[in-house]
Amino acid sequence: MTDVATIFRDHYGAEPEGLWAAPGRVNLIGEHTDYNDGFVLPFALPERVIAAAGRADAGWAVCSDLQGEPVSFDDPGEPGTVTGWAAYVAGVVWALRDAGYEPPPARIALTSDVPLGAGVSSSAALESAVLTALIDLGGLDIPAHERPALAQRGENVYVGAPTGIMDQSASIRCEAGRALFLDCRSQEVEQIPFDVAAEGLAVLVVNSNAPHRHVDGEYGARRKSCEEAARLLGVPALRDVSTDGLDQTLKQLDDEVMRRRVRHVVTEDQRVLDTVALLRSGRIREIGPLMTASHASMREDFEITVAEVDVAVEAALMAGAYGARMTGGGFGGCILALIDADRADAIASAIAEAYAKHGFTAPTPFVAVPSKGATRL
Ligand code: ADP
Ligand code: MG
Repeated sequence: MTDVATIFRDHYGAEPEGLWAAPGRVNLIGEHTDYNDGFVLPFALPERVIAAAGRADAGWAVCSDLQGEPVSFDDPGEPGTVTGWAAYVAGVVWALRDAGYEPPPARIALTSDVPLGAGVSSSAALESAVLTALIDLGGLDIPAHERPALAQRGENVYVGAPTGIMDQSASIRCEAGRALFLDCRSQEVEQIPFDVAAEGLAVLVVNSNAPHRHVDGEYGARRKSCEEAARLLGVPALRDVSTDGLDQTLKQLDDEVMRRRVRHVVTEDQRVLDTVALLRSGRIREIGPLMTASHASMREDFEITVAEVDVAVEAALMAGAYGARMTGGGFGGCILALIDADRADAIASAIAEAYAKHGFTAPTPFVAVPSKGATRL
């Protein structure tokens, strides 16, 4: 990564007033539960966006080492005014203003080692770094628990990408050595001990590098199916369906596919709760079977996996992982596996070999260390 302060100086001919960083994230467990008012358990990565920023006389200017042209705008205007990657920045300015705050005019330079579009939420990292910088530069009084929703609103309304509250919550609120237990209904969070290294363990993340297929359409279809099921079952959201007597509850639904969709969401919420209970009592290895069960549920009931992620999960388990699952919305993206720390290379090789046998594009493995959320450096 190029030194971000140097980029700032080169572009703006001045010193930045400070540096702010915000990380990407992976979700340990709890997939497609967010829009069902349920539970998720992400942790932040060491990979992060760093923003060098300083106040300006008027307007906003932004440049990124990942993009060609710098962009500047006098005013974010209505959603859709600023387009392309800078819309994520304009969206943050817009959301702050829309909530009644006065973000300071600023110049911002960005560097990042969060891979784009790999399912580790580079967009939330970008928004969270910019948001944190603007809040500090402007001396805005916005408590941490109100920040994720501002960044999310920028992405949902200004950029026009329908995402839940998880990514921004993780990027802003995570702590090192912990996973973030997030109740997507109340937006309350709890820090759950997840110091894998202290136990001789590691989380291996593998980008499947599968071409993304029909992601938006399938996401919309799953969401619609869940909302329709909640309506038919007479509950505000699938979060309110109990695992007790679930088979009986499912009989109220005529549609076989819908029954499986509901079963995934309800059992997945329970797996998050069970994972949290195990982690609270320090039994990290024992979450493995829950991870693997989550994958089976996504494959069989929610039908959001593809051959590449199924093969990666299978190969990780065969090579000795305690548990493995796809993470993220599905149809590609990453898998994660809980492993003995000294087995990372062996398990990554086993996955690469399985890929070669299937003729898939080689996967990209990395070890994910639970890291801290957005901060001033
Ligand atoms: P994900 O969040 O899963 O990585 P998204 O499609 O939601 O994928 O967000 C990726 C987009 O976010 C990029 O195409 C780009 O527009 C923007 N983005 C993310 N990080 C940066 C960065 N460091 N510099 C410029 N744009 C970025
Ligand atoms: Mg994103």
